[in-house]
Amino acid sequence: MAVDRELPTQEAADLIALTRELADAELAPRAAEYEREERFPREVFAKLGEVGLLGLPFGEDVGGGGQPYAVYLQVVEELAVRWASVALGVSVHTLACGPIDRFGTEEQRRDLLPEMVGGRLLGAYCLSEAHAGSDPAAMRARAVRDGEGWVASGEKAWVTHGGHADFYSTFLRTPDDGERAISCFHLTPDLPGFSAAPPEQKMGLTGSTTAAMRLDDVAVPAGRMVGEPGRGLAIALSALDSGRLGVSAVAVGLAQSALDVAVAYALEREAFGRRIVDHQGVAFLLADMAAAVESARATYLVAARRKDAGRPYSRQASIAKLVATDAAMKVTTDAVQVLGGAGYTRDHPAERYMREAKVMQIFEGTNQIQRMVIGKHLAQEATPANG
Ligand SMILES: Cc1cc2nc3c(=O)[nH]c(=O)nc-3n(C[C@H](O)[C@H](O)[C@H](O)COP(=O)(O)OP(=O)(O)OC[C@H]3O[C@@H](n4cnc5c(N)ncnc54)[C@H](O)[C@@H]3O)c2cc1C
Repeated sequence: MAVDRELPTQEAADLIALTRELADAELAPRAAEYEREERFPREVFAKLGEVGLLGLPFGEDVGGGGQPYAVYLQVVEELAVRWASVALGVSVHTLACGPIDRFGTEEQRRDLLPEMVGGRLLGAYCLSEAHAGSDPAAMRARAVRDGEGWVASGEKAWVTHGGHADFYSTFLRTPDDGERAISCFHLTPDLPGFSAAPPEQKMGLTGSTTAAMRLDDVAVPAGRMVGEPGRGLAIALSALDSGRLGVSAVAVGLAQSALDVAVAYALEREAFGRRIVDHQGVAFLLADMAAAVESARATYLVAARRKDAGRPYSRQASIAKLVATDAAMKVTTDAVQVLGGAGYTRDHPAERYMREAKVMQIFEGTNQIQRMVIGKHLAQEATPANG
């Protein structure tokens, strides 16, 4: 069922209409097959780029769409209703563009951003390592000064779009800037020694390739550091706040799909001589699913509107990620239940949605880490100077 959205402008309403039309034509017909065959839909991202859907929250001066974050996220949600892997890809691409947009030099913004946010290039974000996921400060991959540039070595793990992306916002230790220093780099696949490992074999979201990226003494040219030396972790974490909102929107779209499938089935399926929707036990389950979807949507919109207003939103972003992804897990699991035995088969998408929801509680900071972030904010905010 199309979600009735409150949008700030006619332009935003037109954008949602365009997204629905494009997603119905290009995403919905491919999703099940590509997921089953574990195929990455590069051509779909090219299409999204062509119509301007890969740069919505970035400034028009650099070729972006100049849209509020609250509008961009609703576009992501609409994409996720049709295909979560693609919506996640849009969110990761946006995350990958963030460091240059916010911390890049004037030259980097002018020379690199238009192609990135214009969607002709696809981005990836390399923060995690095999032993450093929840605690990225424990990373080991490094870049050591070599003349004007650096030599980078090590391995980044779990890279969404690994092997398919055109640029990688990559966080590496830079020991020349201090013992614990981490800096951000703009890496491209043409650099010799920078290569993708074979993709991970995942439980779900199989249309989205995830692979480790190897750095075998990669000569990183001058001009590729983004932001100040040693500021990498702060850059990574600030980008993650907005990335968490992207994941929230993906989770809500996925949950909405599961709800739609469950409602449609409950209207058709009969047991004990009537439609199962007319059994209160099923209607209440559906009602709880709808309440979870709508409250999760409201939660990410509150956080996005704070971001759009220039107010701090880190705590709200973690709350949105926690609420939306837990809602997606519950709603997709309940959708399988509403479909009964049919829900457990691959004849219906409910089981795929359930597998896809699981990872959302894990990436961009597990939900335990979101609780940690929320708890830290509560402790800080409850300790005012006059306290
Ligand atoms: C499909 C997929 C795509 C991904 N894409 C990317 C990407 O594009 N870029 C990128 O950089 N990373 C990416 N990741 C990595 C992802 O962000 C990490 O997997 C995640 O942060 C968790 O890290 P970990 O897997 O090392 O788990 P661990 O850190 O080993 O955690 C294991 C368990 O311990 C818990 N835990 C850890 N520390 C604490 C604590 N202090 N308190 C309570 N519980 C704790 C965790 O919640 C978890 O349940 C992706 C992962 C997946 C699965």
